[in-house]
Amino acid sequence: MPNFNLPYLQPIPANKKILYKNARVVDPHSGYDQLGSLLTIGDKIADFGERLEIADAEVIDCAEHVLAPGLIDIQVHFRYPGQTHKEDLETGSKSAVSGGITTVVCQPNTSPTLDSVEVLDDLYNKAREVAHCNIRAYACITKNMKGEELADLSALKKAGAVGFTDDGLPVMNAHLMRLAFEKSRELGVVVAQHAEDLNLTNNGCINEGNVSRKLGLHGIPNISESVIVERDLAILEATGGRYHLLHVSTREALEAMKRAKDKGLQATLEVSPHHFTLTDEQVLKSGTNAKMNPPLRSEKDRQALIAGLRSGLIDAIATDHAPHDLASKNKPLAEASFGIVGVETMLPLSLNLFHQGVLSLRDLLAKMTCNAAKIINFDGGVIRKGARADLVLIDLNHEWVIDSQQFHSKSKNSPFDGFKVKGRAVRTIVGGNSVYIM
Ligand SMILES: [Zn+2]
Repeated sequence: MPNFNLPYLQPIPANKKILYKNARVVDPHSGYDQLGSLLTIGDKIADFGERLEIADAEVIDCAEHVLAPGLIDIQVHFRYPGQTHKEDLETGSKSAVSGGITTVVCQPNTSPTLDSVEVLDDLYNKAREVAHCNIRAYACITKNMKGEELADLSALKKAGAVGFTDDGLPVMNAHLMRLAFEKSRELGVVVAQHAEDLNLTNNGCINEGNVSRKLGLHGIPNISESVIVERDLAILEATGGRYHLLHVSTREALEAMKRAKDKGLQATLEVSPHHFTLTDEQVLKSGTNAKMNPPLRSEKDRQALIAGLRSGLIDAIATDHAPHDLASKNKPLAEASFGIVGVETMLPLSLNLFHQGVLSLRDLLAKMTCNAAKIINFDGGVIRKGARADLVLIDLNHEWVIDSQQFHSKSKNSPFDGFKVKGRAVRTIVGGNSVYIM
């Protein structure tokens, strides 16, 4: 049985010393990669190096596994408040730490939405009571995500919002995006877009292509994503501020983001493991468990995403963890809910890119640690003296088969059931505390 432990309920004593011996310490930010030891005192990293001997420390032998900064997943839906039959902060964070994730960013499309200081405060208070990992959250761009009126972004930033998004829905009103970018410039945080032109989507449910035609279903074209990205970047260029593109899925959007970055605009982007691992063909095998928004695209798009990861164009990997109960998925494709669970499969699916030689271990881990931290102004994702002791111990070569019934999440909606993967988190440390041991 895996061992779980609540960091907030059981804070580690400030003088507690733990020495992680015999570890391959990897810091993607600095490029440090050496076999040696790492010492934590209380909730901070105190030291690390090839020869580190501390007489009065508890010793944990790491068996030469990779000891890296804990993973940061900047896009999860933990369904609190409002849909806690699908997930809550306790089960979501438990699921996250079992996947090696030490910090998550919750999306604000809850019920009620995270569009007021009151609701955001409640979420952070609840997290302190029950969460197994660090919880951060975006707040809404518009009140109640209606796309009509800007929320009080200054107050929400002050209350701890790491950025703003109406994720689940796009901001269709270009004028509101302009106002949001002006606020972003003032506050120094990102406006994150779920890029989808709802008129072009026109109630589509999977990618527009051979599979949608074969199944006689209404498809979502690539331009549904790219026209919003092109529009947002034009506004960004005129206004300033910081733009973050959530869950990129198309080659057209990648090209637009490349042009923006080449111009020096403050634009970043993330991709979800399912988009660089699967294509819309998976819908034929997994049905509604392969239905998400944006949808799984063509092989051409998937290859473009992999090239974008390799070139560094894509800054981060984030899961878009979207748990749903059986009732929401046991429906025809056109009617089922969008989304899949992701936090327990992010690391092994991403490690595939390392095992296939697409990315070095450093570059891969950077997209789930320091790069992700930078997007949300988070003071973590690095191994450095004095940094927070959020760490993950990874066995790169552990071979296993994904079984959704074993997930710690309340929901089991995954197209990766039965996938053979290599590599997993064997210990997850939050604030100096081992919150998960496989
Ligand atoms: Zn989204």
